[in-house]
Amino acid sequence: VAKKTKLTKEQKLTLQFFSDIPVGWDTDMALYTTIKSGGRADALIEVQTIENLTRLINWLKAQQIPWRTIGRGSNILVSSQGFNGVIIKLTGEFESILYLGDKFGNHNEKAIIRVGSGCPISTLLSWSIKNSYTDLEFLAGIPGSIGGAIHMNAGAFGHCTAEIIDSITILDSLGHQKQISGEDIEFDYRHMSLKDPWINEYVIIAGFFGLRKGNKDEIKIKCRNNIKKRNQQQPLAYASAGSFFKNPAGDSAGRLIEAAGLKGLRKGDAMVSNKHANFIVNTGKATATDITDLMKEIQKKVFLNSGIRLEPEVKIL
Ligand SMILES: Cc1cc2nc3c(=O)[nH]c(=O)nc-3n(C[C@H](O)[C@H](O)[C@H](O)COP(=O)(O)OP(=O)(O)OC[C@H]3O[C@@H](n4cnc5c(N)ncnc54)[C@H](O)[C@@H]3O)c2cc1C
Repeated sequence: VAKKTKLTKEQKLTLQFFSDIPVGWDTDMALYTTIKSGGRADALIEVQTIENLTRLINWLKAQQIPWRTIGRGSNILVSSQGFNGVIIKLTGEFESILYLGDKFGNHNEKAIIRVGSGCPISTLLSWSIKNSYTDLEFLAGIPGSIGGAIHMNAGAFGHCTAEIIDSITILDSLGHQKQISGEDIEFDYRHMSLKDPWINEYVIIAGFFGLRKGNKDEIKIKCRNNIKKRNQQQPLAYASAGSFFKNPAGDSAGRLIEAAGLKGLRKGDAMVSNKHANFIVNTGKATATDITDLMKEIQKKVFLNSGIRLEPEVKIL
């Protein structure tokens, strides 16, 4: 169903100035998410330079148009009502990887690498294998971007992104670029926030990672093994947004969902995976409402069964 856009004709004309790539109007967000479902966004703009992003953020603020940055859409769901505003996707210079050596006076034998937030995790891993840098292997197989990995503090196999972050560059909602050191970031389980209470809306432009030199073959084998484990444990044949719920302290969401007897439970084409109960899979044409209805049903039944209220890890826009 087409959504009524809130952008005026003039706003649409101006928005196109910030990108050389045609802006998507009334965009079906199923095309931009790994769960292949979701409502529509008024506009989706691909921005390729920091200069244009700065201008765009300033303009959106002045026009009071809501906006969100997305990465590779592997942890989001746009509700069936859609997103009234502009979705920003970072490509072009935001996808670069730059080796900086110990430029930042870092003396603990770690090289500093600047990675643009739009860079796919898989591209960074290929780079790290080619150049024999270790410590990133836990990210192998996670289908997100570097910006998404930092924002979500993505993790697996006992490690998380926070462990390798030296600092980040952000653009705040006033269009100012800021370098934030790792100590000024509050990293939590699948969550990050800035300690500075004055910055609450921002785009992550790049991450600076501290990586150790390693053995190329060992790095490759570790990545391959981690991907193999994922293939064994996760329902990767279906579209999904990965683990749907956060694990409650000391327990696993998958265990609680399975214990409530919910494997295979469906709403339309949305289904609790039979392979991994914390995955909601899209078996065909699941709508965002099918997925959120199933989410609520799981929350209710798990609560009644165990007294624990599961909180979604997936960001619902
Ligand atoms: C099959 C599968 C397996 C997965 N396995 C794991 C796993 O093992 N561990 C794990 O942690 N996650 C996992 N995920 C979830 C997901 O891949 C990660 O959270 C990933 O880091 C999200 O990155 P993204 O670029 O797709 O972000 P998106 O889904 O596009 O966005 C996620 C959030 O980050 C914000 N964001 C994205 N980019 C920026 C930016 N530049 N600046 C500010 N905010 C930004 C968005 O606004 C949104 O709130 C899995 C997902 C799938 C589909």
